[in-house]
Amino acid sequence: MQTIKDVQLQGKTVLLRVDFNIPMNKDGTIIDDSKMKAALPTLEYILNQGARVIVMSHLGRPKGRPDSQYSMKPLAGHLQSLVKNRVIMATDSIGPAVQEAVSKLQPGEILLLENLRFYKEEEQNDPNHAQQLADLADIFVNDAFGAAHRAHASTVGVADYLPAYAGLLMEQEVKMLRQVLDNPESPRMAILGGAKVADKLGLIGNLINKMDILLIAGGMGNTFIKAQGHSIGKSMHEADRLEEAAQLLQTARERDVKILLPIDVVAADAISADAAWGIYPVDSIPDDKMIVDIGPQTIEIFGAAIRTARTIIWNGPLGVYEYEQFAKGTWEAARAIAESPAVSVIGGGDSAAAVQNLGLEKDITHISTGGGATLEFLEGRTLPGVAVAERAEVLP
Ligand code: ADP
Ligand code: MG
Repeated sequence: MQTIKDVQLQGKTVLLRVDFNIPMNKDGTIIDDSKMKAALPTLEYILNQGARVIVMSHLGRPKGRPDSQYSMKPLAGHLQSLVKNRVIMATDSIGPAVQEAVSKLQPGEILLLENLRFYKEEEQNDPNHAQQLADLADIFVNDAFGAAHRAHASTVGVADYLPAYAGLLMEQEVKMLRQVLDNPESPRMAILGGAKVADKLGLIGNLINKMDILLIAGGMGNTFIKAQGHSIGKSMHEADRLEEAAQLLQTARERDVKILLPIDVVAADAISADAAWGIYPVDSIPDDKMIVDIGPQTIEIFGAAIRTARTIIWNGPLGVYEYEQFAKGTWEAARAIAESPAVSVIGGGDSAAAVQNLGLEKDITHISTGGGATLEFLEGRTLPGVAVAERAEVLP
């Protein structure tokens, strides 16, 4: 992969794609700026080389036209509070006003473009739109790992017109995810939970080929518990994926991959703070209750397994961790991962949030910033936004 360390940046104008798709309140206040902070090393590196930087990102889902609710303006102010270099907010992402702003931009200054998705051509990867973005700069740097699974004008299209390089965050993400997928030390374990079962079955399919042990719980686990023949009451699950789940269990047996599912669970009559709940073995879950966490015996078994692992991939909470009384399984798993000497990689916004709530970030080898991008990477797919920095020949 070609990175910003492989190119002379002094005096150049750099078009830098970042993932500033940051959770914000309706009034424009920022809920969590970690994605912005994750891009700062790349931004500062480029500025320190004496380049001008045009920063571009999408924010939310405006429907291909300008929508002030999704303006990047509040982010320009926040970015300015984090860097000493001057930040200028553009009124658009392409066109004469942007060209004018770029022509006035000085080395060491940052121009933040307006939301890329104010144009439908962005997500369509329209070549003409990509060229208009590319014409603003000399070099393209992609640091938006979180958007790397999308082939859009700003992540892929511009690389047809500009030499493309990966930023430092992109480089680190790819390096760490490759390390756990392609060169993992044994025993290798994946812990899978969360809610997006349909999205994640492909992930299990790939991880069965790479891992020694899979722990499956959370909303994901419910489908597997049911596929084992147990009644799961009102639990969230994917009724039309039971056969696929049973097939995956069968494949794992054939390949000597150990799959650990909950043997006991916390089940509640509702997902709410005042719900009545109890602890049940998986073969006697009441019809009127739903699984909301793993039970104490499962916590023991999962914890012991985690402590033997040398490589751990974790995606998805093991229960409805948003409520403290249903968070124990997720927290105990996070603690066991943090205490283990294994190389540990966490993907998924909610799993990362659980670790951050406990203040355990520093004990995790790598917390991925990508949601869908991380999942697709772990599924073994080539991400188009990564591939652009890997083309052997870059265009002049
Ligand atoms: P990530 O963001 O880490 O990829 P997901 O978004 O797939 O994870 O899933 C997170 C959500 O899964 C959380 O909101 C959590 O409450 C929910 N969840 C976990 N276990 C269960 C369960 N047993 N029943 C319902 N929801 C669950
Ligand atoms: Mg999530």
